[in-house]
Amino acid sequence: MAKKLIGHMACPECGFSDAEVGEDKNGHPYRHCPDCNAQYFTRGDPGRIAKLKEKMRPVKTGEPAQDLPATPKKRGALDGLFDPK
Ligand SMILES: [Zn+2]
Repeated sequence: MAKKLIGHMACPECGFSDAEVGEDKNGHPYRHCPDCNAQYFTRGDPGRIAKLKEKMRPVKTGEPAQDLPATPKKRGALDGLFDPK
């Protein structure tokens, strides 16, 4: 079964902070904790899905995970005068 990771959440069983939330073959979200191996399946139940997604931190897709903005070198008006040759 190809697993599709959609987010992470805290494991209510062991407290592990990065339990994986994936989608099963029917597109229903479920939780799997790699630490204690607990699994939780919503099986398409709207109430369970809502509660799972409420606690989930979604995985950002499309862009590479980069939280830190690139820091451009700040150049003031006079910086060019002191360039080492
Ligand atoms: Zn766990």
